[in-house]
Amino acid sequence: MPDIINLLPDSVANQIAAGEVVQRPASAVKELMENSVDADATHVKLIVKDAGRTLLQIVDDGKGMTETDARLSFERHATSKIKTAADLFNLHTMGFRGEALASIAAIAQVELKTKREEDETGTCIQIAGGKFESQEPCAFPKGTSISIKNLFFNVPARRNFLKSDAVEFRHILEEFERVAFAHPHIAFSFTNNGTEVYKLIKGNLKQRIIALYGNPYNQRLVPVDEKTDIVQITGFIGKPEFAKRTRGEQFFFLNNRFIKNGYLHHAVQKAFDQLLAHDSYPTYFLFLDVDPKTIDVNIHPTKTEVKFQDDQSIYAILRSSVKRALGQYNISPTLDFNQEMSMEIPYNRKEMPTAPVIKVNPNYNPFTNNNPSVTAGSYGGQSFAQNEKSIPSNWQEMFDAHVKTEDTRESTLLQGNAEDEVFQQTELKNENEFANAGKLWQLHERYILTAVKSGILVIDQHRAHERILFEKYLRVIENSNAPSQQLLFPETIEFSIADVMLVTDLLEDFSAIGFDLRSFGANTFIVHGIPAGTEEKSCVTLVEGILESYKQNEQELHLQPQENIARSMAKQAAIKAGKSLTPNEMIALIDELFACTMPSHAPDGKPSFINFPIDELDKLFRR
Ligand code: ADP
Ligand code: MG
Repeated sequence: MPDIINLLPDSVANQIAAGEVVQRPASAVKELMENSVDADATHVKLIVKDAGRTLLQIVDDGKGMTETDARLSFERHATSKIKTAADLFNLHTMGFRGEALASIAAIAQVELKTKREEDETGTCIQIAGGKFESQEPCAFPKGTSISIKNLFFNVPARRNFLKSDAVEFRHILEEFERVAFAHPHIAFSFTNNGTEVYKLIKGNLKQRIIALYGNPYNQRLVPVDEKTDIVQITGFIGKPEFAKRTRGEQFFFLNNRFIKNGYLHHAVQKAFDQLLAHDSYPTYFLFLDVDPKTIDVNIHPTKTEVKFQDDQSIYAILRSSVKRALGQYNISPTLDFNQEMSMEIPYNRKEMPTAPVIKVNPNYNPFTNNNPSVTAGSYGGQSFAQNEKSIPSNWQEMFDAHVKTEDTRESTLLQGNAEDEVFQQTELKNENEFANAGKLWQLHERYILTAVKSGILVIDQHRAHERILFEKYLRVIENSNAPSQQLLFPETIEFSIADVMLVTDLLEDFSAIGFDLRSFGANTFIVHGIPAGTEEKSCVTLVEGILESYKQNEQELHLQPQENIARSMAKQAAIKAGKSLTPNEMIALIDELFACTMPSHAPDGKPSFINFPIDELDKLFRR
């Protein structure tokens, strides 16, 4: 048998590497911006067309490259940043793998122009699909410009895999923001389809935050400053009262590079304990500096995940320093922490570019998952199946014991006017049928228990309501006939630039479920009306919550926008655990649940009720 192993040609190897390094236009933006930072640029310009599909260009005034370096920079493993393996453990630069340019050039048409200060002329290189096309001298000021045209032009599968312009644009914006926050002393600009989205002048971190997120942040930030031998923590946290229902304003920078870390996020969230409303997320921009020897940044190809040697100490220090910062702010809430003079604030949130937008890439956070103990049915250490098997397919039959009321009794739950009086009348009217109604029991303000033929039915009140509302909203969206209730005092909501674009995209769907939401210039919207039956006082939180769920769903699932909106709205508007229900409300809930087309599961596929069979109970007692 002949030998069968080949060495892959570089062009193929580069394309494979590109799959890891360049998942989407935003990944190229990140790599190129980081290269500019590493080249000591003081001005970096990002120019984007069609969410990066047609053009991504980064222009910097950094140190530039020689003719030879320019050519070499596209070779695989070509880097000026490390020389020996030992350097890996002492990194202070953004890049080091020497993969980015080679990978990008393998899957796009690239033009590089670069010149060092000391050189007479610059050099211009054309390279496409990994094939070197030309290099010639050209006139160029000091620095480097790299244009990436037609990303993935030679990998149609990858190109087709790109999401909508709105989504891709959002990712680009996100990477831009991360680099811009990490380097406030560098001026950045961002032009999208000919419109300048940001022009950030150099300044300090606070000025940068304000320039990106708006003047109101001037009053919202509390400084954090902690120096220990293990880690130095600086930056800002948002005052708790400004915490949002939407994620996306959480930033950790480790040695000045953006990272994601669920464990550290938990530390901050813990420090905010009690101070935050349920379901809201603190804003933070925290810079952690550690000895590079104590971290391993190499575990993830895009380097947003990091392993710490001593993550427990860092967790503890982080938590206490955030707590301390919060404490100081509480003691002297009127004391303003070096407010930036507003006239000096380079607030550059420009009018939205028209079409595109967004979605967030919510920070991965293992701690915000639903508490598994809520769903894992177990009793006395012995678990009983809470999976498919325990959801009876013949639920109607099983549910005979809970006699359904006739249609004359309207759901009171959703109309929010459940009165015990009504319940009593109903009870009287349906005396016989309701023999079992008195046997409803609410457990820990979370579950509704009721006896059924075969055992006990345990209903998760939140999920049940979510299912009911989901089907209801789907119907109203389909028919676009949701009743809206106008607010006496319309409320103003301010969104991040990314969210503005998302909301703009979703306006029609919002109105289909009964919102009357109108743009009020820049990043402000006004809520004039909300779906009938929704609580007025929480309308801002409601909209924020819907957006957050929407973004999460968009990220994790492939839902049609309308289904997504219906799901997000249902999730936000559904009664939560912790709400005590009147008997009447419980009955209404159960009735409506079993009138649904898919009563057994919440829209996210988790069970909305479980049936605990009497024989299981018997078994437990036989032990
Ligand atoms: P890495 O950043 O990991 O070294 P890259 O492929 O991103 O690898 O870049 C290869 C090399 O090209 C860099 O090490 C650097 O020497 C050079 N380079 C890339 N971009 C720039 C730039 N904007 N200005 C100056 N030099 C650059
Ligand atoms: Mg690089």
